[in-house]
Amino acid sequence: MNASDVFVIGGGIAGLSIAWRAATRGLTVTLADPDPGSQATRASAGMLAPVSEVTYTEEPLLRLGLASLELWPAFAGELEAAGGIPVDLRCDGTVEVAYDADDLAQLDELAAFEEKLGLRVERLTGRQCRQAEPMLSPNVRGGLLARDDLWVNPRRVAQALQQAFQNAGGRIVRERVTTLEGLPADHVVVAAGAWSPSLLPGLPIRPVKGQILRLRGPRGFLSTCVRGTVRGSEVYLVPRDDGEIVVGATMEELGFDTRVTAGGVYELLRDAREIVPGITELELAETFAGLRPGTPDNLPYVGRHGDVWVAAGHHRAGVLLAPLTAEAVVAGLFGEADPMPECTPARI
Ligand SMILES: Cc1cc2nc3c(=O)[nH]c(=O)nc-3n(C[C@H](O)[C@H](O)[C@H](O)COP(=O)(O)OP(=O)(O)OC[C@H]3O[C@@H](n4cnc5c(N)ncnc54)[C@H](O)[C@@H]3O)c2cc1C
Repeated sequence: MNASDVFVIGGGIAGLSIAWRAATRGLTVTLADPDPGSQATRASAGMLAPVSEVTYTEEPLLRLGLASLELWPAFAGELEAAGGIPVDLRCDGTVEVAYDADDLAQLDELAAFEEKLGLRVERLTGRQCRQAEPMLSPNVRGGLLARDDLWVNPRRVAQALQQAFQNAGGRIVRERVTTLEGLPADHVVVAAGAWSPSLLPGLPIRPVKGQILRLRGPRGFLSTCVRGTVRGSEVYLVPRDDGEIVVGATMEELGFDTRVTAGGVYELLRDAREIVPGITELELAETFAGLRPGTPDNLPYVGRHGDVWVAAGHHRAGVLLAPLTAEAVVAGLFGEADPMPECTPARI
């Protein structure tokens, strides 16, 4: 194997983004993955939603999410031009809806928190929710509109990244790396998602299972991304340009288990049907389960870790954080300022 400047292990959205950006900065880059884009990235709904996903006590993650969201339009534009594959970046906003009175009270509290943080959300009555998204059930009590949240098709992003990376001179080796010893490169980047600890024992990353469905319907069946709270449980429906609707997702702490279960599918369809009853007419095109790389503080590890670089542990936000993660690792390789200092692996 020829020597490279950089050897990236893992071809999910993290590794592919880093590899592409490093190659466009003139570095010689090799990426190893037996099946790029096949794991959490393949499962992902692709919501770029720091506003509607904001959670109490996770303000550092919000800052990173907003910073990466700002990079997404230019990142997607450059990627489409370089990879020749449209990535379906959508800017129609996210409607967050509540099903019953308790769900509405919870959403009201969230809105107050979002407003306190200076985030742009608009409160909607049930009728206004249905004006924004006509397929919503008449039972929806009310909601919020987060105009700044975007979404993208992560499968297309992964394809475009592979193409753009190779067009920039990068090399993909379809192999699993079993040891960090003797890799032919000046810099090694471990971006192997939930599997990163197999190469870096002691890295506190665990798999968090997410079951997710793909329905197929007519184009334009839904015009916005819909997130719902239904009797306290959360569900989302993300439309694609070809009529696909992604319905997700469970959160399960079951180790490396990727079985799709009857219970998981049932709960997702049950909750999704409460807020968009018309989905029962759509084809159930795919069921899938992916493993989010979770960390103890829900922030990824991005930066220098001993002799190597790490970019792993992006949990629920790996697609959102991909442009910023790539920028951070490439900045590190060139000795430039780190845009994600709170993600340093030194905090382990
Ligand atoms: C159901 C679900 C829905 C999600 N929805 C969203 C969302 O809406 N928005 C969002 O931002 N995020 C979302 N996420 C999270 C997001 O998908 C992940 O954070 C992101 O994909 C992580 O990317 P990654 O590249 O680190 O990992 P992965 O995509 O898992 O990629 C890791 C890669 O490493 C490779 N690999 C592993 N071991 C080795 C090895 N030894 N040698 C070589 N290669 C190796 C694997 O083959 C794999 O391709 C979702 C996740 C799930 C599961």
